[in-house]
Amino acid sequence: MHTTTDWLTRLIAFDTTSRNSNLNLIHHVADALEGRGLKPWLAHNAERSKANLFVTIPAANGSTEGGLVLSGHTDVVPVDGQEWSSDPFRADIRDRRLYGRGSCDMKGFIAAVLAAVPAMQAAKLQRPLHIALSYDEEVGCLGAPVMLAALQTRGLNPQHCVVGEPTSMRMVVAHKGIHTFRCRVHGKNAHSSLTPHGVNAIEYAAKLIVFINALAADLAHKQQQDSAFDVPFSTLSVGRIRGGTAVNIIPHLCEFEFDYRNLPHIDPLGIVEPIRRHIETVLQPQMQAVDADSRIDLEALHQVPALDGSDQAELHVLIGALVDETVRHKVAYATEGGQFQQAGIPTVICGPGNIEQAHKADEFIELAQLARCDRFLQTLIAAQAA
Ligand SMILES: [Zn+2]
Repeated sequence: MHTTTDWLTRLIAFDTTSRNSNLNLIHHVADALEGRGLKPWLAHNAERSKANLFVTIPAANGSTEGGLVLSGHTDVVPVDGQEWSSDPFRADIRDRRLYGRGSCDMKGFIAAVLAAVPAMQAAKLQRPLHIALSYDEEVGCLGAPVMLAALQTRGLNPQHCVVGEPTSMRMVVAHKGIHTFRCRVHGKNAHSSLTPHGVNAIEYAAKLIVFINALAADLAHKQQQDSAFDVPFSTLSVGRIRGGTAVNIIPHLCEFEFDYRNLPHIDPLGIVEPIRRHIETVLQPQMQAVDADSRIDLEALHQVPALDGSDQAELHVLIGALVDETVRHKVAYATEGGQFQQAGIPTVICGPGNIEQAHKADEFIELAQLARCDRFLQTLIAAQAA
């Protein structure tokens, strides 16, 4: 195998922007693991254009029961429209930093894990270690659930998981969930001189948005807050709207999308109820008084569950000791961690690189961060062997 920087250089050279296949990278890694006598397996998407990779380094006695998963996503965000000083898909080391798309988010962690495989095999592990590489994390965490389902089918039951998203090697124990929704307001066209004959979809959308905005203010003031978060309450915001054809036509259609970020202890779907009730008891009756076919459809788009660290003390002690960390950090961005937790695998987020550098032009990771991750993995392996 190779050093962490060798691995990172290879991984960056695969353009695994989420819209592309990640199979070249996955097969390259699978070949290297097979070359070391391991048995990686893949869990593909429905089109078989992308895959998750999972591999187990068994315990010294051959057991694959329990153990800890080291998890990372292989896809990266696009470089479209960004001004890079060097080729984003060629690792470039300057000023003690390694530049390249995905260097920080999060091929740096994957590289460190792959470089540590020989050490994992050489250690007399008491419990197995597992490596999980996913696809399509950056477009809504679509890959990990496919892999988690395959784990169940195969009877694998890891005990813990570390997702190596960039945290500057601090231990993050919780993050918010993300739920996105689309509202389609169906009104009725009319000439703008005949407003009472039409149902103005834009105006009803606006009424609903004002209602959602008032709910957001309630969340900020009435909900139990968690001051460990940057924004210590759940948030709601409308991010897109489209409707209307001409200024002199009452529009029959308006659609908008909104984003709900819930604190881990808040029921993620509870927010839908007051919105639905407002549609059914207030807005739709007004619309249908003019036109019986008018209505508002509310549809859930994506969801990424929150990571709730409140019940995972054992793992926090284990990983906290390895990174010399007593603070339990909580962050605003979402990861696959909530999905692992939902599958019954307690999870923390801990990986090299600063989230500040993620997704940007000239994304980089400090070589010192990679070295810290290497040391973290060495101590983790030693702990699993003890
Ligand atoms: Zn990431």
